[in-house]
Amino acid sequence: MSFSLAIVGRPNVGKSTLFNRLVGRRLALVDDQPGVTRDLREGEAKLGDLRFTVIDTAGLEEATDASLQGRMRKLTERAVDMADVCLFMIDGRAGVLPADEVFADILRKRAKHVILAVNKAEGKAGESGFLEAYGLGIGEPLRLSAEHGEGMPDLYDVLKPLA
Ligand code: GDP
Ligand code: MG
Repeated sequence: MSFSLAIVGRPNVGKSTLFNRLVGRRLALVDDQPGVTRDLREGEAKLGDLRFTVIDTAGLEEATDASLQGRMRKLTERAVDMADVCLFMIDGRAGVLPADEVFADILRKRAKHVILAVNKAEGKAGESGFLEAYGLGIGEPLRLSAEHGEGMPDLYDVLKPLA
């Protein structure tokens, strides 16, 4: 376990899909750990020869619109503070939405190291979202398809130096 990576972003962008792909069945039992609620899932990730801890910000799915912003902010801040690196995920098909800007603000202020990932970018999908992502001011985005496993070698390349 060389470093920890938190996957953050608004609901439905594909965070848990990536978490599941990285963790496979190696899901850590987090219920007994103090300070870790079910809103944050932790697992042992495997990507090529890399082994690291991955944190999924789950628990936002049932939030109502009214409560979502506050909960997203709190949960994201907790994950950001726990992790060495944050993978900020947006949906390349939906493009950059106002909620994504909220995350970008939190990350710019708080995160030690951020990787910007544009998900749902299988094939040529998500190209417009990819170009929009530059406007978030987080740096150069990475194209991913968590569902289809595309872009994983690029993710490996940015994580390798951190190991
Ligand atoms: P989360 O709320 O951010 O954890 O998002 P989920 O991982 O639950 O995924 C939300 C939806 O997006 C699900 O229906 C996934 O199957 C779908 N999804 C996730 N990754 C991809 C992807 O790379 N491509 C496409 N087309 N759909 C995806
Ligand atoms: Mg999820």
